[in-house]
Amino acid sequence: DDTGVPGRVRVAVRLRPRNSEELVADADFADCVELQSELKRLKLRKNNWDSDTFEFDEVLTEFASQKRVYEVVAKPVVESVLEGYNGTVMAYGQTGTGKTYTLGRLGEEDTAARGIMVRAMEDIFADISLETDSVAVSYLQLYMETIQDLLHPANDNIAIVEDPKSGDVSVPGATLIEIRDQQSFLELLRLGEAHRFAANTKLNTESSRSHAILMVHVKRHVKGKESTLSNENGNSHMVKNLKAPIVRKGKLVVVDLAGSERIDKSGSEGHTLEEAKSINLSLSALGKCINALAENSAHVPVRDSKLTRLLRDSFGGTARTSLVITIGPSPRHRGETSSTIMFGQRAM
Ligand code: ADP
Ligand code: MG
Repeated sequence: DDTGVPGRVRVAVRLRPRNSEELVADADFADCVELQSELKRLKLRKNNWDSDTFEFDEVLTEFASQKRVYEVVAKPVVESVLEGYNGTVMAYGQTGTGKTYTLGRLGEEDTAARGIMVRAMEDIFADISLETDSVAVSYLQLYMETIQDLLHPANDNIAIVEDPKSGDVSVPGATLIEIRDQQSFLELLRLGEAHRFAANTKLNTESSRSHAILMVHVKRHVKGKESTLSNENGNSHMVKNLKAPIVRKGKLVVVDLAGSERIDKSGSEGHTLEEAKSINLSLSALGKCINALAENSAHVPVRDSKLTRLLRDSFGGTARTSLVITIGPSPRHRGETSSTIMFGQRAM
Protein backbone atom coordinates (compact mmCIF):
# COMPACT_ATOMS: atom_id res chain seq x y z
CA ASP A 1 0.00 0.00 0.00
CA ASP A 2 1.50 3.32 -1.07
CA THR A 3 -0.99 5.53 0.74
CA GLY A 4 0.41 8.99 1.01
CA VAL A 5 3.69 8.31 -0.76
CA PRO A 6 5.17 11.71 -1.48
CA GLY A 7 5.42 12.95 -5.01
CA ARG A 8 2.71 10.74 -6.35
CA VAL A 9 -0.92 11.69 -6.71
CA ARG A 10 -3.35 9.18 -5.26
CA VAL A 11 -6.50 8.99 -7.33
CA ALA A 12 -9.89 7.75 -6.19
CA VAL A 13 -13.05 7.73 -8.26
CA ARG A 14 -16.46 8.22 -6.63
CA LEU A 15 -19.78 7.52 -8.31
CA ARG A 16 -22.84 9.35 -7.06
CA PRO A 17 -26.16 7.50 -7.01
CA ARG A 18 -28.81 8.23 -9.61
CA ASN A 19 -30.89 11.22 -8.64
CA SER A 20 -34.67 11.14 -8.83
CA GLU A 21 -34.70 12.58 -12.33
CA GLU A 22 -32.23 9.99 -13.63
CA LEU A 23 -34.14 7.17 -11.94
CA VAL A 24 -37.12 8.06 -14.08
CA ALA A 25 -35.60 9.39 -17.30
CA ASP A 26 -32.90 6.69 -17.58
CA ALA A 27 -35.02 3.87 -16.19
CA ASP A 28 -34.62 1.80 -19.35
CA PHE A 29 -30.89 2.37 -19.61
CA ALA A 30 -27.93 0.93 -17.78
CA ASP A 31 -25.46 3.19 -15.96
CA CYS A 32 -22.60 4.34 -18.17
CA VAL A 33 -20.13 2.81 -15.72
CA GLU A 34 -19.79 -0.42 -13.78
CA LEU A 35 -17.65 -0.37 -10.65
CA GLN A 36 -15.66 -3.28 -9.25
CA SER A 37 -14.52 -1.75 -6.00
CA GLU A 38 -12.62 -4.79 -4.66
CA LEU A 39 -10.62 -4.99 -7.86
CA LYS A 40 -10.25 -1.19 -7.86
CA ARG A 41 -11.54 -1.19 -11.38
CA LEU A 42 -14.08 0.79 -13.30
CA LYS A 43 -15.65 -0.18 -16.59
CA LEU A 44 -16.88 2.54 -18.89
CA ARG A 45 -19.51 1.19 -21.25
CA LYS A 46 -18.90 1.74 -24.95
CA ASN A 47 -22.09 0.01 -26.05
CA ASN A 48 -24.23 -2.93 -24.97
CA TRP A 49 -21.49 -5.50 -25.34
CA ASP A 50 -18.22 -3.66 -24.92
CA SER A 51 -16.50 -1.51 -22.33
CA ASP A 52 -13.12 -0.03 -21.43
CA THR A 53 -11.56 -0.93 -18.08
CA PHE A 54 -9.59 1.48 -15.89
CA GLU A 55 -7.76 1.01 -12.61
CA PHE A 56 -7.65 3.51 -9.78
CA ASP A 57 -6.10 3.61 -6.31
CA GLU A 58 -9.60 3.47 -4.91
CA VAL A 59 -13.00 2.87 -6.49
CA LEU A 60 -15.90 4.22 -4.42
CA THR A 61 -19.35 3.07 -5.43
CA GLU A 62 -22.62 4.90 -4.87
CA PHE A 63 -22.86 2.98 -1.58
CA ALA A 64 -19.58 4.28 -0.14
CA SER A 65 -20.20 6.23 3.05
CA GLN A 66 -18.82 9.71 3.68
CA LYS A 67 -16.73 8.16 6.44
CA ARG A 68 -15.14 5.64 4.11
CA VAL A 69 -14.52 8.30 1.48
CA TYR A 70 -12.77 10.44 4.10
CA GLU A 71 -10.67 7.52 5.26
CA VAL A 72 -9.38 6.51 1.85
CA VAL A 73 -9.14 9.93 0.21
CA ALA A 74 -8.13 12.37 2.93
CA LYS A 75 -7.07 10.75 6.19
CA PRO A 76 -3.51 9.86 5.11
CA VAL A 77 -3.05 13.42 3.86
CA VAL A 78 -4.34 14.89 7.15
CA GLU A 79 -2.00 12.61 9.10
CA SER A 80 1.01 13.82 7.15
CA VAL A 81 -0.06 17.45 7.67
CA LEU A 82 -0.09 16.74 11.41
CA GLU A 83 3.48 15.54 11.03
CA GLY A 84 4.50 18.83 9.43
CA TYR A 85 4.12 18.25 5.70
CA ASN A 86 1.97 19.94 3.10
CA GLY A 87 -1.00 18.04 1.79
CA THR A 88 -3.70 18.61 -0.80
CA VAL A 89 -7.09 17.03 -1.35
CA MET A 90 -8.87 17.96 -4.58
CA ALA A 91 -12.20 17.06 -6.14
CA TYR A 92 -12.51 17.13 -9.93
CA GLY A 93 -15.59 16.41 -11.99
CA GLN A 94 -18.58 17.67 -13.91
CA THR A 95 -20.98 19.98 -12.07
CA GLY A 96 -23.58 17.95 -10.18
CA THR A 97 -21.46 14.84 -9.62
CA GLY A 98 -20.73 15.37 -5.92
CA LYS A 99 -17.55 17.44 -5.45
CA THR A 100 -19.10 19.70 -2.83
CA TYR A 101 -21.01 16.78 -1.31
CA THR A 102 -17.70 14.96 -0.89
CA LEU A 103 -15.63 17.88 0.42
CA GLY A 104 -17.92 20.47 1.87
CA ARG A 105 -20.96 19.00 3.59
CA LEU A 106 -21.27 20.24 7.15
CA GLY A 107 -23.52 17.38 8.27
CA GLU A 108 -25.21 19.41 10.94
CA GLU A 109 -28.51 17.55 10.80
CA ASP A 110 -26.91 14.21 10.05
CA THR A 111 -23.38 13.64 11.34
CA ALA A 112 -22.90 10.68 8.99
CA ALA A 113 -23.09 13.19 6.10
CA ARG A 114 -20.06 15.24 7.21
CA GLY A 115 -17.66 15.82 4.35
CA ILE A 116 -13.90 15.84 4.11
CA MET A 117 -13.29 19.40 5.35
CA VAL A 118 -15.25 18.84 8.55
CA ARG A 119 -13.80 15.40 9.25
CA ALA A 120 -10.27 16.64 8.57
CA MET A 121 -10.64 19.41 11.13
CA GLU A 122 -12.05 16.96 13.67
CA ASP A 123 -8.98 14.77 13.25
CA ILE A 124 -6.73 17.82 13.57
CA PHE A 125 -8.37 18.97 16.81
CA ALA A 126 -8.23 15.42 18.15
CA ASP A 127 -4.46 15.26 17.62
CA ILE A 128 -3.15 18.66 18.61
CA SER A 129 -2.83 20.33 21.97
CA LEU A 130 -4.28 23.82 22.17
CA GLU A 131 -1.67 24.76 24.76
CA THR A 132 1.27 24.36 22.43
CA ASP A 133 -0.20 24.15 18.92
CA SER A 134 -2.32 26.38 16.70
CA VAL A 135 -4.69 26.03 13.75
CA ALA A 136 -5.48 28.89 11.39
CA VAL A 137 -7.74 28.91 8.36
CA SER A 138 -8.08 30.87 5.12
CA TYR A 139 -10.89 30.32 2.65
CA LEU A 140 -10.52 31.59 -0.90
CA GLN A 141 -12.31 31.60 -4.19
CA LEU A 142 -10.41 31.64 -7.46
CA TYR A 143 -12.45 33.00 -10.33
CA MET A 144 -11.16 34.24 -13.71
CA GLU A 145 -7.54 34.20 -12.44
CA THR A 146 -8.49 36.43 -9.50
CA ILE A 147 -8.30 35.34 -5.88
CA GLN A 148 -11.07 36.53 -3.57
CA ASP A 149 -11.18 36.19 0.19
CA LEU A 150 -14.29 34.27 1.20
CA LEU A 151 -13.81 35.31 4.84
CA HIS A 152 -13.53 39.00 3.98
CA PRO A 153 -14.86 39.75 0.49
CA ALA A 154 -13.42 43.29 0.43
CA ASN A 155 -10.09 41.55 -0.27
CA ASP A 156 -10.90 40.79 -3.85
CA ASN A 157 -7.59 40.64 -5.66
CA ILE A 158 -5.19 38.73 -3.50
CA ALA A 159 -1.60 38.22 -4.57
CA ILE A 160 0.29 34.96 -4.37
CA VAL A 161 3.69 35.32 -2.74
CA GLU A 162 6.36 32.73 -3.33
CA ASP A 163 9.44 32.52 -1.15
CA PRO A 164 12.25 32.05 -3.66
CA LYS A 165 14.42 30.24 -1.12
CA SER A 166 12.05 27.80 0.53
CA GLY A 167 9.57 27.60 -2.33
CA ASP A 168 6.78 28.22 0.20
CA VAL A 169 3.63 29.80 -1.17
CA SER A 170 1.54 32.23 0.86
CA VAL A 171 -1.34 34.62 0.42
CA PRO A 172 -0.59 37.34 2.99
CA GLY A 173 -3.50 39.44 1.74
CA ALA A 174 -6.02 36.81 2.79
CA THR A 175 -7.68 36.69 6.19
CA LEU A 176 -6.13 34.02 8.36
CA ILE A 177 -8.30 33.16 11.32
CA GLU A 178 -7.03 31.14 14.24
CA ILE A 179 -9.61 28.69 15.50
CA ARG A 180 -9.74 26.78 18.74
CA ASP A 181 -12.75 24.54 18.30
CA GLN A 182 -14.83 22.76 15.71
CA GLN A 183 -17.80 25.08 16.19
CA SER A 184 -15.78 28.12 15.07
CA PHE A 185 -14.60 26.17 12.05
CA LEU A 186 -18.18 25.34 11.03
CA GLU A 187 -19.07 29.01 11.41
CA LEU A 188 -16.19 30.00 9.13
CA LEU A 189 -17.29 27.49 6.51
CA ARG A 190 -20.84 28.85 6.65
CA LEU A 191 -19.58 32.42 6.43
CA GLY A 192 -17.40 31.51 3.46
CA GLU A 193 -20.30 29.82 1.69
CA ALA A 194 -22.53 32.84 2.24
CA HIS A 195 -19.87 35.18 0.88
CA ARG A 196 -19.29 32.86 -2.06
CA PHE A 197 -22.98 32.90 -2.88
CA ALA A 198 -23.17 36.70 -2.58
CA ALA A 199 -20.04 37.26 -4.69
CA ASN A 200 -21.31 34.97 -7.41
CA THR A 201 -24.73 36.59 -7.43
CA LYS A 202 -23.06 39.97 -7.86
CA LEU A 203 -20.88 38.70 -10.70
CA ASN A 204 -23.86 36.85 -12.12
CA THR A 205 -22.00 33.59 -12.25
CA GLU A 206 -22.42 30.16 -10.67
CA SER A 207 -20.20 28.76 -7.98
CA SER A 208 -19.48 25.89 -10.34
CA ARG A 209 -17.43 28.35 -12.41
CA SER A 210 -14.92 29.05 -9.64
CA HIS A 211 -12.57 27.05 -7.46
CA ALA A 212 -13.08 27.12 -3.68
CA ILE A 213 -9.87 26.69 -1.73
CA LEU A 214 -9.64 26.02 1.99
CA MET A 215 -6.20 26.37 3.57
CA VAL A 216 -5.54 25.02 7.04
CA HIS A 217 -2.25 25.89 8.71
CA VAL A 218 -1.23 23.63 11.57
CA LYS A 219 1.66 24.82 13.70
CA ARG A 220 2.96 22.55 16.41
CA HIS A 221 5.62 22.94 19.03
CA VAL A 222 7.27 19.62 19.49
CA LYS A 223 9.40 19.25 22.62
CA GLY A 224 13.05 18.37 22.07
CA LYS A 225 12.97 14.76 23.20
CA GLU A 226 15.64 12.85 25.10
CA SER A 227 17.13 10.37 22.73
CA THR A 228 19.27 7.31 23.21
CA LEU A 229 22.41 6.99 21.14
CA SER A 230 24.81 4.06 21.02
CA ASN A 231 28.54 4.42 20.56
CA GLU A 232 30.67 1.92 18.64
CA ASN A 233 31.08 -0.24 21.74
CA GLY A 234 27.38 -0.69 21.97
CA ASN A 235 27.13 1.33 25.17
CA SER A 236 24.14 3.56 25.05
CA HIS A 237 24.03 6.92 26.70
CA MET A 238 21.37 9.56 27.03
CA VAL A 239 21.74 12.72 25.03
CA LYS A 240 19.59 15.53 26.17
CA ASN A 241 18.31 17.80 23.45
CA LEU A 242 18.65 21.23 24.94
CA LYS A 243 17.41 23.07 21.89
CA ALA A 244 14.28 25.18 21.92
CA PRO A 245 11.09 23.34 21.01
CA ILE A 246 10.97 22.39 17.36
CA VAL A 247 8.27 24.14 15.36
CA ARG A 248 6.52 21.89 12.87
CA LYS A 249 4.33 23.52 10.26
CA GLY A 250 1.95 21.66 8.01
CA LYS A 251 -0.52 23.02 5.53
CA LEU A 252 -3.65 21.27 4.33
CA VAL A 253 -5.26 22.59 1.16
CA VAL A 254 -8.71 21.37 0.13
CA VAL A 255 -9.79 22.36 -3.37
CA ASP A 256 -13.35 22.14 -4.67
CA LEU A 257 -12.52 22.64 -8.33
CA ALA A 258 -14.68 24.39 -10.91
CA GLY A 259 -16.92 22.06 -12.90
CA SER A 260 -14.88 20.22 -15.51
CA GLU A 261 -17.63 20.18 -18.16
CA ARG A 262 -16.71 21.67 -21.49
CA ILE A 263 -18.40 25.02 -21.26
CA ASP A 264 -17.45 26.28 -24.67
CA LYS A 265 -19.83 23.93 -26.42
CA SER A 266 -22.87 25.47 -27.98
CA GLY A 267 -26.02 25.52 -25.93
CA SER A 268 -24.29 26.34 -22.67
CA GLU A 269 -25.44 29.61 -21.26
CA GLY A 270 -24.63 32.24 -18.73
CA HIS A 271 -20.90 32.53 -19.16
CA THR A 272 -18.55 34.33 -21.41
CA LEU A 273 -15.84 32.98 -23.59
CA GLU A 274 -13.33 34.62 -21.24
CA GLU A 275 -14.75 32.65 -18.33
CA ALA A 276 -14.60 29.43 -20.29
CA LYS A 277 -11.01 30.10 -21.29
CA SER A 278 -9.95 30.83 -17.74
CA ILE A 279 -11.52 27.65 -16.34
CA ASN A 280 -10.07 25.56 -19.11
CA LEU A 281 -6.72 27.22 -18.50
CA SER A 282 -6.57 26.44 -14.78
CA LEU A 283 -7.90 22.90 -15.07
CA SER A 284 -5.61 22.04 -17.94
CA ALA A 285 -2.64 23.62 -16.11
CA LEU A 286 -3.55 21.47 -13.10
CA GLY A 287 -3.76 18.43 -15.34
CA LYS A 288 -0.30 19.13 -16.76
CA CYS A 289 1.20 19.47 -13.28
CA ILE A 290 -0.24 16.27 -11.88
CA ASN A 291 0.73 14.59 -15.12
CA ALA A 292 4.31 15.74 -14.62
CA LEU A 293 4.22 14.42 -11.04
CA ALA A 294 2.90 11.07 -12.23
CA GLU A 295 5.70 10.84 -14.75
CA ASN A 296 8.28 11.84 -12.17
CA SER A 297 9.24 14.69 -14.43
CA ALA A 298 11.81 17.14 -13.11
CA HIS A 299 9.76 19.99 -14.50
CA VAL A 300 6.30 20.64 -13.07
CA PRO A 301 4.84 23.57 -15.01
CA VAL A 302 3.30 25.46 -12.08
CA ARG A 303 3.56 28.91 -13.59
CA ASP A 304 0.76 28.54 -16.13
CA SER A 305 -2.15 29.46 -13.83
CA LYS A 306 -2.96 30.95 -10.43
CA LEU A 307 -4.39 27.63 -9.33
CA THR A 308 -1.15 25.76 -9.92
CA ARG A 309 0.95 28.62 -8.51
CA LEU A 310 -1.11 28.43 -5.33
CA LEU A 311 -0.58 24.68 -5.13
CA ARG A 312 3.11 24.85 -5.97
CA ASP A 313 4.37 23.90 -2.50
CA SER A 314 1.89 21.05 -2.46
CA PHE A 315 3.33 19.39 -5.55
CA GLY A 316 6.14 16.89 -5.28
CA GLY A 317 8.85 16.89 -2.65
CA THR A 318 7.48 15.72 0.69
CA ALA A 319 3.92 16.87 -0.07
CA ARG A 320 1.01 14.45 -0.37
CA THR A 321 -1.71 14.93 -2.93
CA SER A 322 -4.99 13.08 -3.17
CA LEU A 323 -7.44 13.55 -6.00
CA VAL A 324 -11.00 12.33 -6.00
CA ILE A 325 -12.73 12.40 -9.34
CA THR A 326 -16.50 12.44 -9.12
CA ILE A 327 -18.77 10.98 -11.77
CA GLY A 328 -22.47 10.46 -12.32
CA PRO A 329 -24.11 7.28 -13.60
CA SER A 330 -26.22 8.73 -16.40
CA PRO A 331 -25.60 7.37 -19.89
CA ARG A 332 -26.47 10.85 -21.19
CA HIS A 333 -23.30 12.23 -19.62
CA ARG A 334 -21.06 9.48 -20.84
CA GLY A 335 -18.84 11.95 -22.72
CA GLU A 336 -18.15 14.11 -19.66
CA THR A 337 -17.72 11.01 -17.50
CA SER A 338 -15.20 9.65 -19.95
CA SER A 339 -13.13 12.85 -19.93
CA THR A 340 -13.19 12.96 -16.11
CA ILE A 341 -11.92 9.37 -16.03
CA MET A 342 -9.14 10.28 -18.45
CA PHE A 343 -8.12 13.22 -16.25
CA GLY A 344 -7.87 10.83 -13.30
CA GLN A 345 -5.90 8.27 -15.31
CA ARG A 346 -3.33 10.81 -16.44
CA ALA A 347 -2.69 11.73 -12.80
CA MET A 348 -1.57 8.21 -11.91
P1 ADP B 1 -20.90 19.36 -7.50
O1 ADP B 1 -20.32 20.07 -6.32
O2 ADP B 1 -19.92 18.42 -8.15
O3 ADP B 1 -21.53 20.28 -8.50
P2 ADP B 1 -22.84 18.47 -5.59
O4 ADP B 1 -21.94 18.03 -4.50
O5 ADP B 1 -23.50 19.78 -5.42
O6 ADP B 1 -22.08 18.42 -6.99
O7 ADP B 1 -23.91 17.31 -5.82
C1 ADP B 1 -25.00 17.45 -6.71
C2 ADP B 1 -26.23 16.79 -6.11
O8 ADP B 1 -26.03 15.39 -5.97
C3 ADP B 1 -26.54 17.31 -4.74
O9 ADP B 1 -27.93 17.38 -4.58
C4 ADP B 1 -25.96 16.25 -3.81
O10 ADP B 1 -26.62 16.20 -2.58
C5 ADP B 1 -26.15 14.98 -4.60
N1 ADP B 1 -25.06 14.01 -4.34
C6 ADP B 1 -23.80 14.12 -4.74
N2 ADP B 1 -23.07 13.06 -4.37
C7 ADP B 1 -23.89 12.25 -3.69
C8 ADP B 1 -23.74 10.99 -3.03
N3 ADP B 1 -22.55 10.35 -3.01
N4 ADP B 1 -24.82 10.46 -2.43
C9 ADP B 1 -26.01 11.09 -2.45
N5 ADP B 1 -26.22 12.28 -3.06
C10 ADP B 1 -25.19 12.87 -3.67
MG1 MG C 1 -20.15 22.15 -6.03
